[in-house]
Amino acid sequence: MADFLLRCVQCGREYEGTAGVRLRCDRELSGEHGPALLRAQYERRQINVRTNLPGIFKFVDWLPTGPYYLKSQFGPTVVYTPVAREEEGVGMACGAYLAGRRPAIVMQNSGFGNSVNAILSLLNYYRVPVVFVVSHRGSDGESIEAQRMMGAVVLDLLKVIGVERLNIVEPKMLALIPPAVEQAYSANRSLAILLPFSFWMDRN
Ligand SMILES: [Zn+2]
Repeated sequence: MADFLLRCVQCGREYEGTAGVRLRCDRELSGEHGPALLRAQYERRQINVRTNLPGIFKFVDWLPTGPYYLKSQFGPTVVYTPVAREEEGVGMACGAYLAGRRPAIVMQNSGFGNSVNAILSLLNYYRVPVVFVVSHRGSDGESIEAQRMMGAVVLDLLKVIGVERLNIVEPKMLALIPPAVEQAYSANRSLAILLPFSFWMDRN
């Protein structure tokens, strides 16, 4: 996979492309200069179209996101597949488990509303463990009022549908994730790791 830098078109400052999600220059955020584009500078000068990858990921050499980002964080064994809806992801994760993989789905908590039937009648019935990495919309910092409704009931909903919950509310709780994931896979029970809305915001 190609490497890339993000370069501020205003001041020229460069940021490592793999350091995390970054949308704005630090000097814009501190008021040293006005709004400025961060332009991706790719190591590869030419796109190698990857016909074995789905959709837009065929052009991953020039995408500063997606499987490249995940692979850079977790190593080359991670397979990342975008889906249209959460319950589609449940079906694909089930297939991945049956093929010997350890599936995880990244989504926001509203996706559980869409996935209840698939979780109950597929994952729970056949005891297929899937780890859900979930942004807890409606938690502190939420700006969209309508998100609060699902956010308020999602922990109860998970309990009702028999999905283990790990509700991360402070950074030191992140250490609880690896043992909880191991427990989920070994006990054949799905696990939802809820991360507060503030965790996903641009901390700058
Ligand atoms: Zn700048």
